[in-house]
Amino acid sequence: MATTLPDYLPLHASLKHDFDRATAFRPALSKQVQELVDMILQDTKRYIDQMLTESVEVSAVVGSNLASLEALLRSQFDLAKYTQSVKSTKEKIKHVGREEPAISLETLEVYHAKEHALNFADEIDEQFRMEKEVNDVDAEFAEFLKKNNDYQNLKKMLFVIDNPEEPIPDDEEDEDLNVSGGKISLKDPISLNYFAAPVIAKRCQHTFEKESILTHLVSNNNCPINGCTNKITSSDLVEDQLMKIRVKAYLAKERKRHENVARVV
Ligand SMILES: [Zn+2]
Repeated sequence: MATTLPDYLPLHASLKHDFDRATAFRPALSKQVQELVDMILQDTKRYIDQMLTESVEVSAVVGSNLASLEALLRSQFDLAKYTQSVKSTKEKIKHVGREEPAISLETLEVYHAKEHALNFADEIDEQFRMEKEVNDVDAEFAEFLKKNNDYQNLKKMLFVIDNPEEPIPDDEEDEDLNVSGGKISLKDPISLNYFAAPVIAKRCQHTFEKESILTHLVSNNNCPINGCTNKITSSDLVEDQLMKIRVKAYLAKERKRHENVARVV
């Protein structure tokens, strides 16, 4: 009879406590990742504000921040998957622990026979691997990104910085925007000047210069856009940050183009 310890040890319920201790790093790690996410968002906001007040080029910075954010969100996503694996392993320990006798000289043989069974640490890895195998993790991650508002906002900002007049692709909200010839108008439909302080009507998604629409609302609460039947009150208006970024990015590009033309002439 073999008296060495078997490779496989019973998954006793008392292991659960060791197990909790071994996985205690999760909340701290998750907090650290969230802190990094917040840092990137703050940093990006600072750059965008700088662009809005000083017309600084920010496309490259926002682009690399978006990439870092995506990498961090991926760790957040993987950590959530890992947490799931830990949970199912814990369930398994609870369940198996009830069925397996404690290890003793009498039961040693039983556990030697189980040499290919997984120990609890391997069990987590196995659950994690299975989770990845069974599900299309990349597609799931794409869904996860779609639901992350911070990521989506940052992505939209980067898009309009690079393409000030283009509608955002695959965005249903954009169908209602002022699009002419495939381009988005960067001018207030009332004053016909470039937007400086654009506001958007929440229900119909039409954008106006704040001062123009407030003046219009004094005598009339119909949306001034032809064919739009929406009624607007001043409380329906929210700042249209994307439009503000579009105008700044567009004017900066125009200025640059003129400078280049002047240099050539
Ligand atoms: Zn409208």
